[in-house]
Amino acid sequence: MVGDIVNVVIVGAGPAGLFAAYSLSKVHQVTILEKRGFVGGSGLHSDGKLNFHPKIGGDLTEFMPEGEAWALVYGIRDLFKGFGVELAQSDEEGLNQLEAEASRAGIKFVKIEQNHIGSDYLPDVIGRLRKRLEENGVDIRLKTDASEIIAENGKVAAVKNGDETFKADAFLLAPGRIGSGWLIDQVRKLGVEMRYNPIDVGVRVEVPNEVMDDVIQGYGCWDPKFHMYTPSYDDFVRTFCVCPAGFVVPEPYGDGLFGANGHSMRDTKSDNTNFALLTRMKLTEPIENTTEYGKRIAQLANTLGGYKPILQRLGDLRGYKRSTWDRLSRSHVNPTLRKVTPGDLAMAYPRRVITDLLEGLEMLDRVMPGINSDSTLLYGPEIKFYAMRIATDNQLRTGIPNLHVAGDGAGVSRGIVGAAATGLVAARGIMEQFG
Ligand SMILES: Cc1cc2nc3c(=O)[nH]c(=O)nc-3n(C[C@H](O)[C@H](O)[C@H](O)COP(=O)(O)OP(=O)(O)OC[C@H]3O[C@@H](n4cnc5c(N)ncnc54)[C@H](O)[C@@H]3O)c2cc1C
Repeated sequence: MVGDIVNVVIVGAGPAGLFAAYSLSKVHQVTILEKRGFVGGSGLHSDGKLNFHPKIGGDLTEFMPEGEAWALVYGIRDLFKGFGVELAQSDEEGLNQLEAEASRAGIKFVKIEQNHIGSDYLPDVIGRLRKRLEENGVDIRLKTDASEIIAENGKVAAVKNGDETFKADAFLLAPGRIGSGWLIDQVRKLGVEMRYNPIDVGVRVEVPNEVMDDVIQGYGCWDPKFHMYTPSYDDFVRTFCVCPAGFVVPEPYGDGLFGANGHSMRDTKSDNTNFALLTRMKLTEPIENTTEYGKRIAQLANTLGGYKPILQRLGDLRGYKRSTWDRLSRSHVNPTLRKVTPGDLAMAYPRRVITDLLEGLEMLDRVMPGINSDSTLLYGPEIKFYAMRIATDNQLRTGIPNLHVAGDGAGVSRGIVGAAATGLVAARGIMEQFG
């Protein structure tokens, strides 16, 4: 087999599966099975904020030395450029200033080279990537749900979709968060080990653009990442997915549950900026199942919100009051998502989470004055569930010799660039294995 063209089946056409296919298809025959009717995965539903840093959206240094991880990330940046993403120049001096200012406020500002594609431009970028894959002979099977992994003699022999069987020499499973339940069931049957990842619980914060403009426009930093430890609980709190002039949207979590999320467009702007403020929760014993814990919080919030996100004014949360439309009308932030229930997040969240969020906002206010105003809007729940981490070697090969995993579904990434990078790591592993 070494040196010959091998057949590789990839499950999932998100960033992990697509970038792996891009690399593998230069030398091997690749088939992608994608259960939906389009390629791009959850990446296609995002607004394409690209964070070019090996420790954001996963930690690539788990798989390679730091220098190689940076090279991989820059390689992905060049690929995106090749697919038509215009790379913005960051203001290095401004970012250094912001880092110093945050430091004085007791906050870590993570300096990252970033880009923003925009939800209105992302489909074109993915379209160009898909065209390149088709030119390389990749067989993309849409509406093809991988239902079962068939193992024979200690190796994976095929993936089944109903009556259809896809045989191959090597398999890469990259089904994303949406397919992580299926992935876990399949690899558990094969005896592969796994463990729970922590989850991030928090809210989507919405403020007028002016409050964050100095940081976003002034320093040319699209998605500023601030990391803090809170005074009361010493918990890790961070900003995530900042959407300048953006819109808050509901996001399905599966099992009928949903939360709040946000996106920005390049051509359509709102007067508000939104971002996630999240506190990290890790469980040890007697229960390690962070997914179940997060689901219970989402269930409670969804029940109280009448199956709409809860919206609360920060002043009301601090004042131990439920928000009402009347009270919300006194906020000078006009909500961009109106299909919500004004309510009280303190009834749905553990006290520890509420304390972390309030303290996080207080700390952020030292760098972005106005964030901690009574008018600031909070939408909940916003929970980042991460899939169980599947045990692999540093080429993302599981204990089964011809079975690799990649992307968010395997718990090894949490973002577009991170998912794409793990796809490339797994692809490299397959190529080294088969020559
Ligand atoms: C609303 C939203 C906004 C986001 N914004 C950003 C952002 O701005 N920047 C950023 O870096 N990240 C963002 N993310 C996260 C980012 O989209 C993901 O981290 C990334 O897409 C993960 O890539 P992936 O390839 O691992 O999985 P996915 O992109 O989820 O792709 C997995 C694919 O596998 C398919 N699949 C699943 N199970 C099966 C099966 N059994 N058979 C066949 N196919 C299957 C799915 O249909 C899906 O197409 C956002 C996510 C969401 C939901």
